[in-house]
Amino acid sequence: MRKKIVAGNWKMNKTLDEAVALVSEVVNMIKDEVTSDVQVVLCPPALYLTTLKPYLEGQSRIALGAQNCHEKASGAYTGEISAPMLKSINVSHVILGHSERRQYFGETNAQLAAKVDSALASGLTPIFCCGESLEQRESEVHLDFVRTQLTESLFHLSPEQFANIVIAYEPIWAIGTGLTATSAQAQEMHEILRQHIASHYGQEVADNTSILYGGSANEKNAEELFAQPDVDGGLIGGASLKSREFTIVVKAN
Ligand code: 13P
Repeated sequence: MRKKIVAGNWKMNKTLDEAVALVSEVVNMIKDEVTSDVQVVLCPPALYLTTLKPYLEGQSRIALGAQNCHEKASGAYTGEISAPMLKSINVSHVILGHSERRQYFGETNAQLAAKVDSALASGLTPIFCCGESLEQRESEVHLDFVRTQLTESLFHLSPEQFANIVIAYEPIWAIGTGLTATSAQAQEMHEILRQHIASHYGQEVADNTSILYGGSANEKNAEELFAQPDVDGGLIGGASLKSREFTIVVKAN
């Protein structure tokens, strides 16, 4: 059975005091209000991971994730953070291939394959992001484009390695725009991604892969999105920056 997961991608937001306050609130609300076994992953800026870790002590349902890592384990890469470093501070997840990383930092499918390898070698769970632009959707190349993102960055993995991957489908046109994919659009792509995984790894691996939706998911639309058979949770941006909104999203799964 695949896991239900709700991850919060804080992106480049919050000062330290604000980050501590948000984590404290989220931990309390989830402890008090969430009865399901949904896995929550908080992905604050890397700078705060060490400080925030103790606030999650004893909270088995809430994990800590980074928003990126470098593909090399160590070396002369000024300003970068490696997968072994994240592992050394007990981070369990890492978002890889977010469209903002692809767009603003030029990350390619091949580079992401190397990042995935590095993350897995350190025992981290990659949350691998994929998704098309509006132009690609309008010219109807979106299905092939997203399938290729998976093929080129993930399909070199063994089935055992792939079992540790979480996929996040995030249509670029829906990120931060308030334009959520309809639940039918999300379901269509998630089903196609699952079929694509099945074509390479077999149905059992595909059925056990969590595929999250991201892109203007919030407390109002999460329930309908998460009700789709192939939507296993969400990767939440803006709505993860407010404890009440985020908790409502978590409860929707
Ligand atoms: P928003 O929820 O703000 O649209 O961001 C989605 C996202 O990019 C999560 O990674």
